[in-house]
Amino acid sequence: MTEKTLSIIKPDGVSRGLIGDVISRFEKNDIRIIAMKMVHLSIEQARGFYAVHSKRPFFDSLTQFMSSGPVVAMILEGDNVIEKNRTLMGATNFKDAAEGTIRRDFATDIEKNIVHGSDAPETAAVEISFFFNELEVCNK
Ligand code: GDP
Repeated sequence: MTEKTLSIIKPDGVSRGLIGDVISRFEKNDIRIIAMKMVHLSIEQARGFYAVHSKRPFFDSLTQFMSSGPVVAMILEGDNVIEKNRTLMGATNFKDAAEGTIRRDFATDIEKNIVHGSDAPETAAVEISFFFNELEVCNK
């Protein structure tokens, strides 16, 4: 089934020059990019995006990190793309991530783990509309 998901290259991925590496993995895996922008989130915006994690002990650290520099947000489209992107990303903790995944290859820390990807259709819809309006989506 064709789906959409939100991908974010986090500040560590952008500052370390990994935008191209991440995008080429999507392109090599038949994932289409139908919207893309670079933004530097404010702390309030980062707290809004990660509101589901507001009770977690790492919330302040995570939102400071996510607002520490620019990120690249993308809408990805493709068959089963939510799960496919999660597989390409690897486990949250790079130490647990499978060989050949983005996080295993590049992440340095459980928090600084290069990429974000929506985990379900409902969260994908909310997260996509956090970053993009309809005019910014190339879905013709
Ligand atoms: P994801 O769906 O794999 O990104 O993982 P989660 O939704 O569980 O967590 C969101 C983000 O919070 C992760 O990608 C990490 O950047 C960060 N995070 C998750 N667990 C921890 C933790 O135990 N400590 C810290 N500092 N950050 C964490």
